Amino acid sequence: MKSISLLGSTGSIGRNVLDVVRKNPDKFKIKAIAAREDIDSLVSQVEEFSPTTVAVTDGKCYEDLKKKISGKTKVISGDGCLEEITSDSDVDIVFISISGTAALRPLVAAVQAGKVIALASKEPIVSAGKLIMDMARENSAVILPVDSEHSAIMQCLGEKISSDISKIYITGSGGSLRETDQAEFDHLSVEDVLNHPKWDMGKKITVDSATLMNKGLEVIEARWLFDVEAEKIKIIIHPEAVIHSMIEFMDGTISASLCYPDMRYPILKALSYPGMIDNDFPRVDFLEINKFSFEEANRKKFPAIDLAYNALNDGGVAPAVLNAANETAVGLFLDNKIKFNRIMGLVESVLKAHKRVDEPSLSDIQVIEKWASEEVLRSC
Ligand code: MG
Repeated sequence: MKSISLLGSTGSIGRNVLDVVRKNPDKFKIKAIAAREDIDSLVSQVEEFSPTTVAVTDGKCYEDLKKKISGKTKVISGDGCLEEITSDSDVDIVFISISGTAALRPLVAAVQAGKVIALASKEPIVSAGKLIMDMARENSAVILPVDSEHSAIMQCLGEKISSDISKIYITGSGGSLRETDQAEFDHLSVEDVLNHPKWDMGKKITVDSATLMNKGLEVIEARWLFDVEAEKIKIIIHPEAVIHSMIEFMDGTISASLCYPDMRYPILKALSYPGMIDNDFPRVDFLEINKFSFEEANRKKFPAIDLAYNALNDGGVAPAVLNAANETAVGLFLDNKIKFNRIMGLVESVLKAHKRVDEPSLSDIQVIEKWASEEVLRSC
């Protein structure tokens, strides 16, 4: 029986994790759950899974949650509450599915505690990938990617090592705007952009999928998780969204990992690592799919891809600036404060304005992320 601390239990990934646990009560137990503010969902999750601890990061929700929780579950809140549940010595797996830069601090705490970490949040690896991977090696922490592409790459890699890889193909469905003319980008509503053809996900990542920034962030994530240089990582659009990424090895052979687009597969893979667990998720029917297609990502229509590669090649704090500026700009779009087309312009101008910091520390990264976010708010 593996016990799990689940950070981000009320979001799209968190709910899927709980579904996997619900279906495997003899294999997994929820030790702690945490979310920002969705009290009603937290209360019903506590009733169903009886965790030892529930954390709510928005301090304003603490009293309300405490009133609604009966029984033995301890309620915690405030600065440091996520660090408390990530470093608990009774926890076998820390599952991090908090969207955005907020995932950085709890991830660092889990890495420093030498935990096995199922990581659904890509942003901290984008901003601080080198530091986190170095820290993971020092503390014998294990980071298991839950991002579907990186989960696929982990499976394709198996026992091979980074130097065996000649190319990584990060596949993408193309997002909600693949077939939308660029001329229409100025008139898109939030609803248009959130209408993803293949994946049902949180709002931030669905907008990132529409701009293809999600693929750009995934290139940076793959660079650090698998220690592969940027020029060996290629984005390829695969609208059927069944191949979740591929590795071409140095002998020219290619391994791919396939399944229908359902986040429960990568979740279960991380939770059952290094083993495997049977499940009743839908199986691929090749005759029904009939054909796979591939296309080059349109870099002119989707400038996010070049911005991400350039930030990775610039190094230092550039990926952190890209990440934080994008997150804030996407938030502004979701709040109807800016048009869709403005997102990448803001990211680009903040990247241009940032001051280089080579070999940044964790606090350099946190400072620059705050700066990038404020700079987007100032210039919008
Ligand atoms: Mg992904």
